[in-house]
Amino acid sequence: MDIYLDNAATTRPSEAVWNVIVNCREEYGNPSSLHFMGEQAKMTLEKSRREIADLIEAYPNEIYFTSGGTESDNQAIVTGAAWGRTHGKFRIVSQKTEHKAVLNILERLKWMDYEIVLVDVDKNGVVDIGQLENVINEQTALVSIMLANNEVGTIQPVERIADICHARGALFHTDAVQAVGQIPVDVEKLGCDMLSFSAHKFHGLKGAGALYIKHWIKPYPLITGGGQERGARSGTENVLSVKSMCIALEEAVKGIEERNARVIEMRDRLISGLLRIPDTKLNGVHIFGDCTARLPGNVNVSFKGVDGETLVLMLNSKGICVSAGSACSSNELRPSYVLKAMSRSDDMANSAVRFSLSGDNTPGEIDYVIDQVRECVKALRGYSKQ
Ligand code: PLP
Repeated sequence: MDIYLDNAATTRPSEAVWNVIVNCREEYGNPSSLHFMGEQAKMTLEKSRREIADLIEAYPNEIYFTSGGTESDNQAIVTGAAWGRTHGKFRIVSQKTEHKAVLNILERLKWMDYEIVLVDVDKNGVVDIGQLENVINEQTALVSIMLANNEVGTIQPVERIADICHARGALFHTDAVQAVGQIPVDVEKLGCDMLSFSAHKFHGLKGAGALYIKHWIKPYPLITGGGQERGARSGTENVLSVKSMCIALEEAVKGIEERNARVIEMRDRLISGLLRIPDTKLNGVHIFGDCTARLPGNVNVSFKGVDGETLVLMLNSKGICVSAGSACSSNELRPSYVLKAMSRSDDMANSAVRFSLSGDNTPGEIDYVIDQVRECVKALRGYSKQ
């Protein structure tokens, strides 16, 4: 039995998404062409823009199509930085558990004399609001705080943060890559000026995403050329991926309540099953992230005395796909910077494993996974004692 519990990494494209790709083979016109094929592609693109805008309560002219979450995040940060430069503001504030798509572009802006301030989070991954209030001043161009964390699923109090930013004259961006399609997202309600999302996180295709930018903010183009996307993002538009992203988002939003009720039930079943794994040491199983302000499908867990990567590989050999909480780079296994920022020890962070569920999973799969994890943990703890 193959079981996919790595939906925070990417999701399985839905049937409706595949149907777009298969059935629209003849819709290959370039939206910039004047003939009927171009016109048809342009109509598809603009219809998708209107529908996507509608699904997040934005206006169509506030949606810019990109290649995904990384590009959207990069463009949002650079747009905020450019806006800041024209207003004589050079401070950008973010927090320590952001995705690298935000942290690395911020690092690059340091070369251009921007001052980057990264605020702490508490042990559940919630941003320190007091610290945030202290560091956002009249020199602050932009604040970027993610809506939901990709490792531990913690949801940030974004509406409150948006108010703080606006009271101090700063723009506010939120990376909603893990949130759009998983929880209700309304840009008006959130109060954000920019918001990033990515199709492959809600059963669309990889290589398609979007950036919402409030109508009065001028997007700074990362890619320049033929001036597509009203000059914000050059390059021939990825029309079929955009069309399929629109369909995937419609499906995700339409079924959100019923699906989340099912996913939460499975998540809680998984959590209680994992917590019951026999434990020779006290507090041997730990669930990371906020208990209530969290994504429906996320379970990030550590088993004392068990290496996370080894557990992932063992589960893989049983046909179960999950992620380790640590990132392997240059052959060096480093504990997750997210868990480190949440004041977790190296041992705990190295032991973390992320299970991320979707509406495609079933309670039967969850029961099977619990049994397999129990067996693996028992075996691994047995080895580590020798
Ligand atoms: N931001 C967050 C929170 C993510 O989880 C991811 C991907 O995992 C990204 C940004 C990058 O998105 P993409 O893979 O579409 O470039």
